[in-house]
Amino acid sequence: MGMKQKKEVAKQVHLKCPTCNAYFAKSYMQTHLGKEQGMFTACSDNCSLQFTMKLAMGSGNVNEVAKSIVQNVLKIDDEVQVAPVYSNLKMN
Ligand SMILES: [Zn+2]
Repeated sequence: MGMKQKKEVAKQVHLKCPTCNAYFAKSYMQTHLGKEQGMFTACSDNCSLQFTMKLAMGSGNVNEVAKSIVQNVLKIDDEVQVAPVYSNLKMN
């Protein structure tokens, strides 16, 4: 409570792991979108490595792999606004 720095309140990205199909969320800057590198974000380093290997080796069904990438990003939350304390005064 009140410990969070404003810069930590980041946009959340809801994802589905391409390797294990787990649903999870990460802050935007920790995903391939924020880093602007790679094509996907997995739930863990292990899953990330597994899917990277899958892509590199061209193993697995091509359509399934493409689908995993397309479905990786489910939803991107809007930037969370940190309401100033005095905002209550403006209501009504
Ligand atoms: Zn996973």
